[in-house]
Amino acid sequence: MLADLPAQPADALLALIKLYAADERADKIDLGVGVYRTGQGETPVFGAIKGAEKKLYETQDSKAYLGPEGDMGFVEALKPHIFGTGFAAIDRIDGMQTPGGTGAVRLAVGLAKKAGITRVIMGTPSWPNHAQILKDLDLEVVTFNHAKDGAVDMNAVKAAIADAGATDAILLHGCCHNPTGIDYSNDDWDAIAALLADKGLLPILDLAYQGLGDGMEADAYGVRKVMATVPEALLAYSCDKNFGLYRDRVGAVYVMADKDQLPAIMSNGAALARANWSMPPDHGAAAVRLILEDEALTAQWLDELDQMRTRMRQVRDKLAAAGTAGGVDMVPYGTQNGLFAMLPLSSEQILALRNDHAIYMAGSGRINVAGLTMGNIDKFIDAVAAVSA
Ligand code: PMP
Repeated sequence: MLADLPAQPADALLALIKLYAADERADKIDLGVGVYRTGQGETPVFGAIKGAEKKLYETQDSKAYLGPEGDMGFVEALKPHIFGTGFAAIDRIDGMQTPGGTGAVRLAVGLAKKAGITRVIMGTPSWPNHAQILKDLDLEVVTFNHAKDGAVDMNAVKAAIADAGATDAILLHGCCHNPTGIDYSNDDWDAIAALLADKGLLPILDLAYQGLGDGMEADAYGVRKVMATVPEALLAYSCDKNFGLYRDRVGAVYVMADKDQLPAIMSNGAALARANWSMPPDHGAAAVRLILEDEALTAQWLDELDQMRTRMRQVRDKLAAAGTAGGVDMVPYGTQNGLFAMLPLSSEQILALRNDHAIYMAGSGRINVAGLTMGNIDKFIDAVAAVSA
């Protein structure tokens, strides 16, 4: 029986990591997997996390089970950062901790399905795991074009909302769109929020990169606007990028609904968690909670996040300053957001970058902007020019 299982394709990005590791060229550049890197090419543990882990080591006196909702102190402490202080609907929002943003998406979509959603509308391209999770939950997927000519395709999202059915939900990236880096403007969010409310369409919002675009407040505009406008929403949140906790798997799912119904809804969330992973891993979320409960650690964390964002802006500015590189217009990368950008290159050109220039990127043309440094960016621009001329 088990022997009948067909082999699944290997994860392309993980395969790329192996190829990169085996490449002996000293000037190789890794633009594949989506983790932040410093100007020295490192992905260090945040100083604020180290501080919180020290506290945790000194004060944590038990590792007994917490429960399917995880660390509720963590879930609560994040709220003012996500929704802002004084968010009008805050008493209609409850949440629970999840294993990373992936667990949060899984739980949000699972809850939507349990509530009667049969189809999910989403922009493409998207983070590949969105489609995989939806497929795994047997939900129908309808796609629309996320971007066109380097800008969001507002007509496409408007048409998708207009065509939505009664048991549809729409999945939207809150900020720092993966893989395009192309985000809705505040005006776009205003329009989308109004259309969602008119249509009565349930939003599933995915906020995995808050603080990596224009800052914690600015990056939350869309999520806050939508959640201030519609009656019900689901929000999947990741702390794995903005606290640098990737492998510790730190996330949360938030539900906004009728206040009286929240306990029943969250009991469904807890039941889904129990059936999936029982309870989320504690360590990273406890560290985040300790940061957010401590003014000095919070300031340190925000400062470290600021440094990340500033570095990515510098890289983007430098790309934009190059103007065009061969056939690629670099200017739009300057105003896009977050870790990612898409290069309009063919698979032959992407292969030539790897073979001839030791530059590794996803087969889709997605690059991790944080893989570029002031030391390798000129080589990168020249190489793109060479393969795309
Ligand atoms: N959503 C999006 C859009 C993402 O890009 C990612 C990470 N690549 C996630 C969710 C999940 O993040 P994690 O599970 O690592 O917290």
